[in-house]
This record gives sequence, C-alpha cells and structure tokens, in this order.
Amino acid sequence: MIDIKQFSELQKNSKNSFASQRQLMKKVMAGQTVLCTTCKQPLFLLTPTHNGAASNENLGIYCKKGCTDIQLDFV
Ligand SMILES: [Zn+2]
Repeated sequence: MIDIKQFSELQKNSKNSFASQRQLMKKVMAGQTVLCTTCKQPLFLLTPTHNGAASNENLGIYCKKGCTDIQLDFV
C-alpha cells in the first residue's frame, strides 16, 4: 500500500527522470557526446526509418549495448 506522501515522492522522481531525459536528448541532438552511464559507450540518436502511421518505431536515444534505451515518443 502506498500512502499519499510516498506517491508524491514517486511522482517527483519520475518528473526528475523526465527532465533528465530531455536534457540528454538536447545534448545528443546538439551533437555533443554523451556516454551511457552503464557501459560508457557514446549514445546515439536513432530516427524512425519509416514514418507510416502503423510504425512502432520511435525517435530514441540508444547505446550500442542497449542498456540505454530512451524512446522519445513525447517529442
Ligand atoms: Zn550502455
């Protein structure tokens, strides 16, 4: 059971990670090198290869190993 206080903590945390994902996206899109926090490989921006309505592919930031996998479907 989650009480109100814990719930608002959770919301705060998810807002923080949302903000940090946006920061990350801005850096990568600006051509800056950002390293994956897990494997220390450079992150890269992946753009959808096809833009049909049925496409499940999203713009995202990924690392080679796949430990960073941020889908930017909120853009
Ligand atoms: Zn990684």
